Amino acid sequence: MTKYDPDNIFAKILRGDLPSERVYEDDETVAFMDIMPRADGHLLVIPRSKARNMLDATLAQLVACMATVQKLSHAVIAAFEAEGVTIQQFNETAGGQEVFHLHFHILPRHPGVNLRPPGTIEDHAVLVANAARIRLALAG
Ligand code: 5GP
Repeated sequence: MTKYDPDNIFAKILRGDLPSERVYEDDETVAFMDIMPRADGHLLVIPRSKARNMLDATLAQLVACMATVQKLSHAVIAAFEAEGVTIQQFNETAGGQEVFHLHFHILPRHPGVNLRPPGTIEDHAVLVANAARIRLALAG
């Protein structure tokens, strides 16, 4: 497998070299809004430490990420009055991965509402407002 690239977009976000709308962080993980959300409240959860994807991740990285995924799934359900979540995670180009730092997608879901097609950058103000709703749910 290809080596971890320390200049991938999420590594830059972790270092603060690129902006992101963070909603949660702890010692092991960070969660922020997906810039091209496929549903309102679409979040990404990443480990602070280097992993290209699930295939080279340590068990500790996976456990830490899943704990955050579960916590934030409850938060987005509350924030968006969702009835469920879809969790997505892609590995290598053939598996649909585009950014090569391990990440999990959290997609709030409502009955009968399809995911939006990928590739449309959301208005910054909408991302900010949706992040605020998630932070509020976390605080409650
Ligand atoms: P994947 O690698 O799982 O296929 O997709 C990468 C995800 O990262 C996509 O959902 C895309 O919208 C998101 N993404 C790509 N670039 C950025 C960025 O600069 N900031 C944020 N917050 N999300 C990004």
